[in-house]
Amino acid sequence: MKPRDATRAAQAGHFLDPETGALVHGVVPSTTFARRADYTLFRDDRDYARDRSPAFEPAEHLLAELEGGVAARLYASGMSAGAAVFRLLGRGEHAVLPRAMYWGLRAFARDEAARVGWELSEVDAADTAAIARAVVPGRTRLLWVETPANPTWDVTDIAAAAGVGRAAGALVVVDSTCATPVHTKPLGLGADLVLHSATKYLNGHGDVLAGVLVTREASDAWSRLGWERRHGGAVPGAFEAWLLVRGLRTLFVRVERQSRSALALARRLEGHAALDAVLYPGLPSHPGHEVACRQMQGGFGGMLSLRVRGGRARALEVASRLDLFARATSLGGTESLVEHRATVEGAGSRTPDDLLRLSVGLEDVDDLHDDLDRALSP
Ligand SMILES: *Cc1c(COP(=O)(O)O)cnc(C)c1O
Repeated sequence: MKPRDATRAAQAGHFLDPETGALVHGVVPSTTFARRADYTLFRDDRDYARDRSPAFEPAEHLLAELEGGVAARLYASGMSAGAAVFRLLGRGEHAVLPRAMYWGLRAFARDEAARVGWELSEVDAADTAAIARAVVPGRTRLLWVETPANPTWDVTDIAAAAGVGRAAGALVVVDSTCATPVHTKPLGLGADLVLHSATKYLNGHGDVLAGVLVTREASDAWSRLGWERRHGGAVPGAFEAWLLVRGLRTLFVRVERQSRSALALARRLEGHAALDAVLYPGLPSHPGHEVACRQMQGGFGGMLSLRVRGGRARALEVASRLDLFARATSLGGTESLVEHRATVEGAGSRTPDDLLRLSVGLEDVDDLHDDLDRALSP
């Protein structure tokens, strides 16, 4: 019997230690691995933990399985995983990025492009025709997708975008941090690589900084990324990798609950007199709803945004009046967070300044609704 994903996650890959009978992996802090007297490596070609380590393997195997890929690599953060991808690009090459995406990665990509000398086009990635117009066959090396995308939750049709990107010879990379493998499997839709900030839903408890890349197949790009991780050294610590597996065991139950609560809040808040809009792909009013219904299984994620009537000052006032939502950046943890993205992103931010981003946690949804409703009242 081939177990389903929720089963694999709950059992951390059906782990059983053959030596001790333990059902939970140990923490493997060793940075170095022995050679025999004849100087061959003791086990599995492992020599040094910056290259690869048994500390990373349980999370890497589980994430490769959950995403339907052949291999995964952990990184020290989502940013370092994304930076590794952008470092694949050389002078004169071309990349297509969505206009709505995680601002830190966009800032990194823009800086790299200017410094290294590759060209970057930013498109409305909710519009497949716009992606097709931007991609240059033979020259575009990378097509970046994030869906649903920060902080307006724009939805990209991954299958259509991947078709366009791959036909042009580009590497198609999907930042699936907010969709998680619970809702979307980009590799099965034709993407080459999936990226996650494992800091968010995968770990899910706000206590680990980590990232991961998963590949659909062995490829030159994947080999190069292996070289770059070994020598760039952006790997997590052993304890962080262990905590990540512990978090992954509850991924499905957390994300299912967070998605259900986010949908309930979106429905209850839409039309609220204090709001101009509720942005959530699970609402029929969201421009990405139709594609999201096709592409996302079992829910639309735990992230939504509110456009507060009255602009920036009123949005900040509402944030200040919330009790249960903590005013903090990040997302995907057990506790609900609110963020005024325009403030955090600073000068050059494209985020509307009336927008509050909510990360819905595991609290009682009625408490969350009451908190929002009270903060929104005149
Ligand atoms: C947080 C985030 C990142 C960056 O990950 P870190 O773990 O903070 O480095 C990348 N993409 C998305 C969508 C994110 O939310």
